[in-house]
Amino acid sequence: MIVPRTGQRAVPRDGHRVHHFGDLSLRWRILLSQLPLTVSAVLVTLAVLLIDPHLATGSPHLLGGLAGILALTVAAAAVPWQRFPPIAYWVIPLADFVAIAPFWAAARYALDGMSMLVAFPVFWLAWSGIRPVLGITLGVLGSAAVTWWPYLTGGAPFPDATADSNLGRPVIVPVLTLALAIAASVLTRSMDRQSGELQASLDYAATQNRMLHTVVETSEVGILVVDRDGHDVLMNQAQRRMHFIGVPSGMDDGAEADLHLFESDGTTPVPPAERPVRRALQGESFRGEIYAIGIDGSQQHMSVSAAPMVDERGEFDGTVVIFQNVTDLIGAIRAREQFVAEVTHEFRTPLTSIIGYLDLALEAERDPAVGRYLTTSVRNAERLLTLVTNLLDARASTSAITVQDVDLARLARYSLDSAAVHAQRGGVDVVSRLPDQLEVLADPVKLGQVIDNLLSNAIKYTPRGGTVTVSLRRVPAGESDEGKDWAEVRIQDTGIGMTDQERADLFTNYYRAEHVRQAAIPGTGLGLAISQGFVRQHGGDITVTSQRRVGSTFTVRIPVDGRGEEHHC
Ligand code: ADP
Repeated sequence: MIVPRTGQRAVPRDGHRVHHFGDLSLRWRILLSQLPLTVSAVLVTLAVLLIDPHLATGSPHLLGGLAGILALTVAAAAVPWQRFPPIAYWVIPLADFVAIAPFWAAARYALDGMSMLVAFPVFWLAWSGIRPVLGITLGVLGSAAVTWWPYLTGGAPFPDATADSNLGRPVIVPVLTLALAIAASVLTRSMDRQSGELQASLDYAATQNRMLHTVVETSEVGILVVDRDGHDVLMNQAQRRMHFIGVPSGMDDGAEADLHLFESDGTTPVPPAERPVRRALQGESFRGEIYAIGIDGSQQHMSVSAAPMVDERGEFDGTVVIFQNVTDLIGAIRAREQFVAEVTHEFRTPLTSIIGYLDLALEAERDPAVGRYLTTSVRNAERLLTLVTNLLDARASTSAITVQDVDLARLARYSLDSAAVHAQRGGVDVVSRLPDQLEVLADPVKLGQVIDNLLSNAIKYTPRGGTVTVSLRRVPAGESDEGKDWAEVRIQDTGIGMTDQERADLFTNYYRAEHVRQAAIPGTGLGLAISQGFVRQHGGDITVTSQRRVGSTFTVRIPVDGRGEEHHC
């Protein structure tokens, strides 16, 4: 049942992999944190060279600061940071402040917004998440030192008349960086918490996954999951064992179409298009279908169920197929059937003989008391015979029918003759409305049993003084919808009748109406179910109309020319 095992899916279907900053090595992370400042410093230098070349060449501060930043970038890449405690790399952002200070002092008049260069190390310190408060404090102190540097070194008068903002810049920059540092730190913490939660969910999913794996592998039931392209996604041990029973000898691993797979009879091969996995892959869902896998002594029976999986858009995304080994169960059922068949058969012959001799004794007996005993014995023996016959018929109801030309009128007359004594004893009048002849293509034994059954029911369920009418007619094609001629047997009684609810359950195995049980009228509740099976095998059906305490009418209809696919004898 298996399709080639090519597509074990380990990565997402589109093959996409996402790299996170956190997955990189420490050295790369430090270098990448430093690079924005380096790139900005290079761009600033180029801009200053364009705007005011003299500034760049006239003062050593600008190029000196740039050289410091570049040196720190090289250090970020070169130092083996993993050998030191994590906080060690703070050396780089802290030293960045020292390099930015002269750089900023030199270029602040030429380029507006230069002060924001300090944002890079501040951000980095706050972002690192190592010691949030210390990081923020150092960042703010660093930025303040950079902005105040020109005044502290006496390089500029305070307040700065040449700068547009007077007091603004030296005060505002540290305040802004404080806000920035706090924002960055809060963001990092919330991201840390989120990634912690994510990790917890991933751990939970992994535990669930391991548990599921153990359950699936321990299961005695074969489990197969196939994706929508027909690739096995999962096949547990039980299923592998089952699969290999069906692999033809000389083959390592078979696709489903190659396996020895049969119907429940163990001999009729299942065509590839009708095999369970193939059907399941077309989105079919089914339950408890019985198949046989393998040949000869190793053949096993399995019950197969399948259900499609759908993706989030509701489209077919593969299927789950479950295989249950039911070999022992099937063996037990067969043994029971065999036993019932043999026992019932062995019972019938002696019972028929007992009834025959009891009847003879009844006829010869003159003593009314003994006569009563004998009548009771006959009734009980007949009851036993009906039971045994019905049990046997229950098995026969699944066997094929064998049709021949049958005169239905004659068949009905036989049944009427056999039921006459029964009717007489029960004080029921039997009226027959039969044509001389009505030829049909049918199984005489099974159809005879159907009429016997319905007639004996009608007599049994009709109180003394009632009437049973048996009529037979041919229904021409014109009168029915199906466009063929039908034969119709109608058995009508004026008996106890039934409610609509009782009528609905009538053809169920072992069903008997409650009041019938209570009245202790003998029966098994199998007769009608068996009769319906027989009639349906002929391509016909039994219908019932009934009214409680008024009577019932059972109508059997079969096609006159048979259903066209029977065995002829
Ligand atoms: P059994 O007669 O052995 O009980 P059947 O399968 O022949 O089993 O009938 C099932 C039930 O249907 C009966 O127990 C009875 O309740 C009801 N039934 C069948 N035929 C009639 C009828 N002619 N009139 C009223 N009830 C009937």
